[in-house]
Amino acid sequence: MKAVVYHDAGDIRLEDVPEPKIQDPNDAIVRIIGSAICGTDLHMVRGTMPGMEPGTILDHEAVGIVEELGSNVCNFAVGDRVVVASTIACGCCSYCRAGYFSQCDNANPNGPQAGTSFFGGPRMGGPVNGLQAELARIPFASVGVVKIPDSVSDEQALMLSGIFPTGYFGADLARIHPGQHSAGSHEKRTDDGELPHRPAAEDSDRMAGVDEDCLPRGGQARADHHAGATHRFRD
Ligand SMILES: [Zn+2]
Ligand SMILES: [Zn+2]
Repeated sequence: MKAVVYHDAGDIRLEDVPEPKIQDPNDAIVRIIGSAICGTDLHMVRGTMPGMEPGTILDHEAVGIVEELGSNVCNFAVGDRVVVASTIACGCCSYCRAGYFSQCDNANPNGPQAGTSFFGGPRMGGPVNGLQAELARIPFASVGVVKIPDSVSDEQALMLSGIFPTGYFGADLARIHPGQHSAGSHEKRTDDGELPHRPAAEDSDRMAGVDEDCLPRGGQARADHHAGATHRFRD
């Protein structure tokens, strides 16, 4: 199958690789029909994420069709259209039961202290091959895969894989409410474990796509003076 494969910083190739196989009864194989490029992927391109193993398939945001199911995965059927969550979680440990899926004790093959396991990441995150491929193996699929209703398009569902929840979580942390205006810094991303630039988000008077370097550290930013692009944040 074709996949987008990391070889080195700046050396990302589309190439033929072996198809993934079920390795565990909790796995599923998903035939990817749409995937996204995340800001996190740019770390691999630029070499700013340490520990990447050559040969790792990149990306962690995708929608697809269930191709094959492990014997423990009973909440889906082959042929279901699904969205894949960007991080991997078992659904059973104390953190997962409390809703802290990114802190899962069981998903990371490097152990419970190793941190979040996610698709297409470095050695310390698995490594687990990513989703920019024709097929992907999804560990703990009964937790990390969600069936897409017919009324939701592939493109809409793809946003829920990582991009929209990241923005929503950042807005929630920054206490942004509908009708308010705020600034967003594209570099400070919650899916990297970093918080958005909170003072800037609270003090500015437009939702703006701004470069992090434009925002003063420590607040009182007025993003409308720096904005490269502006977007209303309504819903
Ligand atoms: Zn992402
Ligand atoms: Zn867990």
